[in-house]
Amino acid sequence: MSVALTTNRVEVERHAGDSMMECVNCGAQQSPRHPVIRANGAARPFDLYRCGGCGLIQQFPRYSAGELAALYGAAYYVFDESEEDRWARAVQQYVIHLLPHETKSPKRLLDVGCALGHVAALAQRRGWRVTGIDISANAVSRATVDFGIDARAGALHQHVNTLPPFDVILLGDVIEHLPQPVAFLQSVRSLLAPGGVVCIDTPNFASRWRKIGRSNWIALNRYHINLFEPETIRDCLARAGFGNVAVRSYTNHRYETWASRPEVQALIAWLPGGLQWRVQKLLSRYNGFGRWSGLRRVKPHTLDEARARVTDFAHYRLDGIPKLTRDNLAVTARVHG
Ligand SMILES: [Zn+2]
Repeated sequence: MSVALTTNRVEVERHAGDSMMECVNCGAQQSPRHPVIRANGAARPFDLYRCGGCGLIQQFPRYSAGELAALYGAAYYVFDESEEDRWARAVQQYVIHLLPHETKSPKRLLDVGCALGHVAALAQRRGWRVTGIDISANAVSRATVDFGIDARAGALHQHVNTLPPFDVILLGDVIEHLPQPVAFLQSVRSLLAPGGVVCIDTPNFASRWRKIGRSNWIALNRYHINLFEPETIRDCLARAGFGNVAVRSYTNHRYETWASRPEVQALIAWLPGGLQWRVQKLLSRYNGFGRWSGLRRVKPHTLDEARARVTDFAHYRLDGIPKLTRDNLAVTARVHG
């Protein structure tokens, strides 16, 4: 699920009857009273609450199974993102999540939420034996046809009994979509070979931009039913039997500058018209800054170009970056013991 999301036309009704919230991580029962983030019309028709037990942020009331199925219908994916934007993002995700594990042997990778297969294709070109899974049959068929990925349609639990063990399992923009994250991580754990590692990429609710932007934060949408912070992703992984958890954070290269931030744009929209134009012009002068700005200036257009750019950015690994205030969490964990 690593492509941008659309606000599709699926209308989802709220559950009228539920009054108690049972935490999907720690199981604590609570009556939700004070939302951390309030509902925002059709874009996000649910309040977000913090669990009093473990701190996990979750939507309430929750979607029913039928509503979730409708939410991930044919309208889910946006296919109009440019190819070079997809490759640039794939390079960034590869460098952050997979490059540190290239020394593994054998290199068996499961990419859960592989979408159109750009990260999977890049990994395959760099020597990984790759299997992909995605909820969208449409996306899976494109990953197979375009890049020759062994990709399967559906949810992980539908395939868990027929998949071989893997050395690395990548969950890119996946876990925040799932109604039962702990059970899902247990399935992931069962698929890891001895010494295997899970790599998780998910929005960071502790992000500085979330605190500044509040309800305008970029990662708030109806699909993100649970939102994690460094402490809660650790807790969730521990409950699923993982150990050796390392948490880091980074920002999607597209959103490194002020001009690109929807939180900033929402503030600018309040200014008088003439001033808006001046502020935009001022901000546009700072577009070339940021750790990954080279990826915005010269985007890869093909798989071969993307492969070459991985080498250019190889030193941009997150090792030794202590800040946990950026938009995305980059988490690794291993099987305990
Ligand atoms: Zn909880």
